[in-house]
Amino acid sequence: MLKQERYRLFVDYFSKHQPNAVTELHYSNPFELLVAVILSAQCTDKRINQITPALFERFPDAESLSKASVEEVFAYIRSVSYPNNKAKHLVGMAQMLMGKYNGEVPPEHAELVKLPGVGRKTANVIVSVIFDIPAIAVDTHVFRVANRIGLTTNAKTPLAVEKQLIENLPKQTLGVAHHWLILHGRYICLARRPKCEVCPLTHFCRYYQRANTTTALLRAAAAEQKKLKNAKKKKLDKATDKALKKISIDPSRQAE
Ligand code: SF4
Repeated sequence: MLKQERYRLFVDYFSKHQPNAVTELHYSNPFELLVAVILSAQCTDKRINQITPALFERFPDAESLSKASVEEVFAYIRSVSYPNNKAKHLVGMAQMLMGKYNGEVPPEHAELVKLPGVGRKTANVIVSVIFDIPAIAVDTHVFRVANRIGLTTNAKTPLAVEKQLIENLPKQTLGVAHHWLILHGRYICLARRPKCEVCPLTHFCRYYQRANTTTALLRAAAAEQKKLKNAKKKKLDKATDKALKKISIDPSRQAE
């Protein structure tokens, strides 16, 4: 199947079935989303949603967070991964927002990546979700699922995946495609054991088709071997019968 055909089927399926896919992180303004996305690195959205209500209540904006101590923030986020670093990043990020951006989250990707704790992926999420700028953030789910389906070829890094997706997806679907891939990876195309048996994408998924072709080839080879073995056995049985028959009718041997 041609790559373009795969992209077409991918966009068709999700446009029809999940046209309004959104992030599962809870937030009510750009500042909260930025905090939640920084916290979500190497952690689950579920865990982040458990701790952010109290965190947002205590630090509702960049100003309040910029005045907090790292230790105080740590106490609110201790159950997420890398709480020490993340607490430092959050305070540093809020201080920079206050010092350089008037307490607001800047819409430019180049400015966002200057904030502590904000890398390319986080900046892509913010510009896409908050400012509706075409961008696609590549996290572990996007990386894996895009590769399995066959939307990418030999893409070894998140940046390579990002470039190939941008090159091939219709511009207006970039933002939502990020959520399609994440949600599909989170609930169906699991890292260790993809649930292909319930997946609606098997008719164009490269991973599924390759796995099935391999299985079919292995089955055919096993059947051929069995056939050969049976034929050999039949031949041997026939030869044995013939030999036994000969012995039983040989008078000289009967006398022995
Ligand atoms: S068919 Fe399997 S490998 Fe392909 S996208 Fe679906 S779950 Fe993932």
